[in-house]
Amino acid sequence: MLVIGLTGGIGSGKTEVTHILRELGAVVIDADGIAHLSYRPGTPAYEAIVRLFGRDILDGSGVIDRGRLGTIVFSDPGSGRREKLEAIVWPATREWIEGRLAKEEGRGTRAVVIEVSKLFEAGWDQFVDVVWAVEVPPGDAGNSEIARRVQARSGFDEARTRERVAAQMTREERIERADLVIENAATLDFLREQVKTAWQTTRARSE
Ligand code: ATP
Repeated sequence: MLVIGLTGGIGSGKTEVTHILRELGAVVIDADGIAHLSYRPGTPAYEAIVRLFGRDILDGSGVIDRGRLGTIVFSDPGSGRREKLEAIVWPATREWIEGRLAKEEGRGTRAVVIEVSKLFEAGWDQFVDVVWAVEVPPGDAGNSEIARRVQARSGFDEARTRERVAAQMTREERIERADLVIENAATLDFLREQVKTAWQTTRARSE
């Protein structure tokens, strides 16, 4: 079974790419979504996070409020808080994903795509077969385009988007390390054509 790791900068179009891949018949695992599930109340990760950050991060029903947690870990980059959170969440997420991959293998699935924004940072390039990076061209136009898309989708302002970008590897580093780069530089139709070609080529090579 071929495991494709799909990564890219914030708001670069990873989720759009997964929509296209699903239409093409791919099995897609959303690692960031799994990461959020990994710290539901009652999980070992939940206990560890509450021990680390205190009960102020909980909402009225005892669930970890991701907005509050995000503010704590991203607002003070030198504090090491984000790294501590990741050291809890990434292994829990990976364990779940490995279980899912074993199930897909048992089912005879031929290719699985894992969407994960911090693939290289988490060292997961070691556990996938190929890495695809979705990127927006650099420069002011590219940056403001990302800010505009992220704001439209998540309501983040520019400063908040910049904080998230600063916590990630640069576009250049991802491009250097990826096996294939999808430049999300134009319309969604253009993106679709690139993804189709990448999917067909990668699948053909893995057969
Ligand atoms: P995140 O890192 O925050 O999870 P992402 O990389 O998954 O983001 P998407 O959610 O796919 O990015 O895209 C961000 C926003 O930009 C979405 O609203 C999406 O529909 C829009 N978008 C992506 N690509 C294009 C494009 N080529 N043309 C127009 N809008 C686009």
